[in-house]
Amino acid sequence: MMDVLKKVPVREQDAKERAANFEEVCLGYDEAEARQEAERCINCKNAQCVKGCPVAINIPGFIEKVKEGDMAQAYRIISESSALPAVCGRVCPQESQCEGKCIRGIKGEPIAIGKLERYVADWARENGLKPQEAAEKKGKKVAVIGSGPAGLTCAGDLAKMGYEVTIFEALHEPGGVLVYGIPEFRLPKQDVVAREIENVKALGVRIETNVVVGKSVTIDSLMEDEGFDAVFIGSGAGLPKFMGIPGENANGVFSANEYLTRSNLMKAFDGDAETPIMQSRKVAVVGGGNVAMDAARTALRLGAEVHIVYRRSEEELPARVEEVHHAKEEGIQFDLLTNPVEILSDENGWVKGMKCIRMELGEPDASGRRRPVEIPGSEFTMELDTVIMSLGTSPNPLISSTTEGLETDKWKCIVADEADGRTTKEGVYAGGDAVTGAATVILAMGAGKAAAKGIDEYLSGK
Ligand SMILES: Cc1cc2nc3c(=O)[nH]c(=O)nc-3n(C[C@H](O)[C@H](O)[C@H](O)COP(=O)(O)OP(=O)(O)OC[C@H]3O[C@@H](n4cnc5c(N)ncnc54)[C@H](O)[C@@H]3O)c2cc1C
Ligand code: SF4
Repeated sequence: MMDVLKKVPVREQDAKERAANFEEVCLGYDEAEARQEAERCINCKNAQCVKGCPVAINIPGFIEKVKEGDMAQAYRIISESSALPAVCGRVCPQESQCEGKCIRGIKGEPIAIGKLERYVADWARENGLKPQEAAEKKGKKVAVIGSGPAGLTCAGDLAKMGYEVTIFEALHEPGGVLVYGIPEFRLPKQDVVAREIENVKALGVRIETNVVVGKSVTIDSLMEDEGFDAVFIGSGAGLPKFMGIPGENANGVFSANEYLTRSNLMKAFDGDAETPIMQSRKVAVVGGGNVAMDAARTALRLGAEVHIVYRRSEEELPARVEEVHHAKEEGIQFDLLTNPVEILSDENGWVKGMKCIRMELGEPDASGRRRPVEIPGSEFTMELDTVIMSLGTSPNPLISSTTEGLETDKWKCIVADEADGRTTKEGVYAGGDAVTGAATVILAMGAGKAAAKGIDEYLSGK
């Protein structure tokens, strides 16, 4: 007998097995499981889950179709609001968004909205459903800088409205963090990301890779010489931060971004790849966010013993609970209330250890979290050959520094109107991590959507 207070459990790869491979951890629902889970939804009139979704997917509407077994219609309903459902179903923090607001969550477990979205999107892919190109063209051109979730969403929405859209991407593959940051075992690149990008292309969007805006072309040259009527900047926040401690430039110290890019985009995990990564024996990942968990779980799969070094306690870990749980299951060790003070290297400049100090929690700081305070005399040394710094990222100033009239704030984030993405330069819009600093896939998508509307209003009035 089904317990309506509990989610239908989702199958996962066994923790021991998956710690040694890059295949997807979560295996998702099959049709029977999806329909059973959908039955738990009471199709609320004033659905709170929709209010928790940054792109306002008609959640009860699509779940109703899953109940009926009409997956094609369920996919159409999701596609009205989201261009990347197979991605979002896998990586959105549903527990603090739609599922966090689900009425079922008051007495029991919320509906597994993310897992249902994933099921429907995967079904659509397996059954060859594609979005349709716009019938009527507007005769106007828009340039989109960056092919992450913000750029892809903005481009897809503008193409649906009939604009001629070209995405300019600095890297050799489109997808932004979806391809270079989030690891294969959480988000398969070929089966999921590449397929959803194909869907955006099917709407008529062109993607030019290997174009660094600010170097090979500028926003002004795109608008003045190449005839683009408007520009959307979705260039993300890819510039890593470091601690500024002695020894940080030793060989074997990576930023999490570099480490993950080498593994994900450059396929270092594949023994035959032309761009291998160093074979680490013992790795410390400094930081406690989702990016730190991804870097740690990647290093583990590449064969190392891995420690997360974080200066606060478990309660303050900023990573999603599910990610911490998966990391622990796989054998990552957590050295909490510990802060690095120096990286030690051998005579050839390679990392050989990290001097750390123990911390305790004091009064809450500006973020509301209790401030970590050093315990005098508690220094100790960890022996290591690799340190991965995962302390956050900020937007690269390349675009703002080469575009006259584009204002940024003190963190180098582009100043843009939240409602429509308008920047301080006429015809130029922006959204996603380039505006907010490092955030989430769905917030970047929401910003791309808002900017597409803003650009349409601007160009319709011209
Ligand atoms: C390791 C990692 C794990 C994450 N996990 C999650 C998760 O589980 N769930 C979640 O919701 N979020 C997660 N995030 C955050 C999320 O991926 C980002 O918030 C989101 O991708 C931001 O989208 P964006 O489109 O603004 O930027 P990005 O995805 O960063 O895309 C920006 C693109 O612009 C390109 N670009 C930059 N400068 C230029 C230029 N000058 N010219 C041309 N192109 C340029 C970049 O190459 C890149 O492809 C994670 C982030 C990282 C790093
Ligand atoms: S709040 Fe929960 S139960 Fe209500 S419609 Fe949304 S998913 Fe269904």
